[in-house]
Amino acid sequence: MSSRDDELWSALRNFEQAIRHHEEWAKAITRTVICRLARDQQDLSELAHRNCQFGQWYYHRLPPVLMEFPAMAAVAVEHERMHRLASRVLLAAANEETVTTGDHDSFFDALDRMRLQLLTLKNEIEDTLYNHDPLTGADTRIGMLTRLRELWELAKREIQTCCVAIMDLDNFKAINDTHGHVAGDQALSGAVHYLKEHLRPYDKVFRYGGEEFLIALPDCDEATALSVLERIREGMATVPMASNTDTPILLTASFGIADLAADVPIETSIERADAALYEAKIAGRNRTRVWRPR
Ligand code: GH3
Ligand code: MG
Ligand code: MG
Repeated sequence: MSSRDDELWSALRNFEQAIRHHEEWAKAITRTVICRLARDQQDLSELAHRNCQFGQWYYHRLPPVLMEFPAMAAVAVEHERMHRLASRVLLAAANEETVTTGDHDSFFDALDRMRLQLLTLKNEIEDTLYNHDPLTGADTRIGMLTRLRELWELAKREIQTCCVAIMDLDNFKAINDTHGHVAGDQALSGAVHYLKEHLRPYDKVFRYGGEEFLIALPDCDEATALSVLERIREGMATVPMASNTDTPILLTASFGIADLAADVPIETSIERADAALYEAKIAGRNRTRVWRPR
């Protein structure tokens, strides 16, 4: 397991603890209002969202590894909004005023929205832990066919075209033999990070074999896939992939592209991309080929 995965497991445990604290806080608020108990002054403060236990964790102890999750920012927004609405309810109750149904409903709606964001974030963390290859950060093959089937359904209905491509690193055995397996691992991981960084956010990279990766390019015809992957291939060849070894490791990759055709099974399109990759290899490597019927 990579150290990033260790960090993520530990972050997930802390996050679950923070969620539990917040559930307890929500119960205590309801109890305070219904049983007319003395309210906690902190809950009325402008900074209530920063002072609650969840806020203390979020604003002071949030592990950096969680910052890259898209749902994290949404959690913060919903959490702050929910605290603002909670203080309105508490203030009315404390002043012996009737809590309006509007304030009551807004508070509980905000609580639900925040719970939804918390669950979304938890799902994102778990998805990363269970469905990502720890070495390269690529998706594992587990969800690959499911995702391709969704894209194939869109292609069949002529809603959206899609291309699949296979990338295979060139002469990678020689990289391991020359620089050692640890440096090879770093170079492999560096190449995939470069690839992912230069694709669109909704493109997917699956680890298909040892140093082979399947790329799903939704909403992309063959000509666009070719130009995108050619740009990446040329760029990748110029960037040293393992930085903390004495010798910079430069590597190249070959790509095979096929349309995710509506009239043949997905597996056939993958075989076509593989055949195109083979053409690229025998033509000398470090190139991209698009599958064409013979
Ligand atoms: P080609 O250009 O024909 O693809 O040549 P190649 O040497 O890349 O191809 P080959 O399939 O003969 O070798 C692939 C090598 O990739 C062999 C294997 O040890 C290495 N490899 C596969 N997965 C990993 C990995 O996770 N880490 C490292 N360091 N090496 C890996
Ligand atoms: Mg190879
Ligand atoms: Mg290979």
